[in-house]
Amino acid sequence: MAECIFCMIANKEIPSKIVYEDDKIVCFHDLEPQAPVHVLIIPKKHIPSLDNVSEEDQALLGHIMFKVKDIACELGLENGYRLVNNCGEDGFQTVKHLHFHLLGKRKMTWPPG
Ligand code: IMP
Repeated sequence: MAECIFCMIANKEIPSKIVYEDDKIVCFHDLEPQAPVHVLIIPKKHIPSLDNVSEEDQALLGHIMFKVKDIACELGLENGYRLVNNCGEDGFQTVKHLHFHLLGKRKMTWPPG
């Protein structure tokens, strides 16, 4: 998936500020942070969106969720954080590679825009 920017980040074909990586996922700083801490957690496997996951991705999704607290701890988000997934057009997803935004170090509001 050479044309996918997040695959290129996962494959180290373009630079990013990586904060966590293992054999299944990568976490890196968002280029346009919407909070003092704003990182993206992506699977290395190319999955276009949460709407495209299959049965075989269950463990991978669980792995991402399980790692959130460790990444949050590493980033000093002991006071809380927000985990966001934008899915599809109405969800305002702009990059078609599954990713979760982890935002923190500011007080969030509700509802989101
Ligand atoms: P979405 O709107 O949920 O799809 O979020 C995509 C996010 O990717 C946005 O917050 C962008 O700022 C971020 N982004 C796009 N390209 C890059 C990049 O090359 N490096 C880091 N973040 C990026």
